[in-house]
Amino acid sequence: MGSVGAKEVPQLLDAQGKRIDGRGLEELRPLSIEAGVLRRADGSARVEWGDNKVLAAVYGPREVHPRHLQQPNKAVVQCRYNMASFSVDERKRPGLDRRSQEISKVISEAFESVLFVEEYPRTSIDIYIEVLQANAGTRCAGVVAASVALADAGIPMVDLVPAVAVGKIGGQIALDLKKEEDNYGEADLPMALVPRSGRLVLLQMEGHMTHEELKRALDLGVRGCQEIYQKQKEALRTRYRLEAPAPTEVEA
Ligand code: UDP
Repeated sequence: MGSVGAKEVPQLLDAQGKRIDGRGLEELRPLSIEAGVLRRADGSARVEWGDNKVLAAVYGPREVHPRHLQQPNKAVVQCRYNMASFSVDERKRPGLDRRSQEISKVISEAFESVLFVEEYPRTSIDIYIEVLQANAGTRCAGVVAASVALADAGIPMVDLVPAVAVGKIGGQIALDLKKEEDNYGEADLPMALVPRSGRLVLLQMEGHMTHEELKRALDLGVRGCQEIYQKQKEALRTRYRLEAPAPTEVEA
């Protein structure tokens, strides 16, 4: 541990360049995705990613609430990201704070750009993201879960949307920051990608890095997203393989 003022700062990289959880710089935390976990939602998914546990439930296209948000020419995409009081070390006050509102807004906008909203005027596509356990990267885990939940609901979209946070720790660019790295690192850059077109639909940054580092961080994030994308597709395949009716015998 080093110290900054009164605070003890953990050493984020050891002499071999390994991270505090033993990962290399370009390694994701263990990620598991399950589609179709909630009976009452039109579509749902559960994501466990490192120490994050996130559920997403999707409804729609359905009637808009509140009514005045209805759009005559397209569906509105309403995301509510919520972090449970028990999801973090220091109890979080329940309810939507400014951070949750900001995250809900950027995720709504990300999905509005991949869903065929013009096909469903005067309706709402509602996305609920519940963070049950948090350890940094929860907005990305929320996007990963929500996009699988949207596909599970059968809502047409351009592509699944993988997401990951890249950042800078101990002077190095690293993939998928955990809590200590997010807290004590130099930069944190969550991003979400449409793999088919390479279009970024969410990109935020906290901290500092050079132009050159930013380019490397984006490249690393895109590669991380490709890996996550495969797992999202696998989760959907597993769901529909399990549910597929047995093939009927063809009579000779
Ligand atoms: N966090 C917390 N209390 C809060 C908000 C966040 O303990 O009220 C923690 C939580 O582990 C979260 C992390 O700080 O995952 C990083 O938060 P950030 O705002 O960067 O969003 P995230 O990385 O989760 O998308």
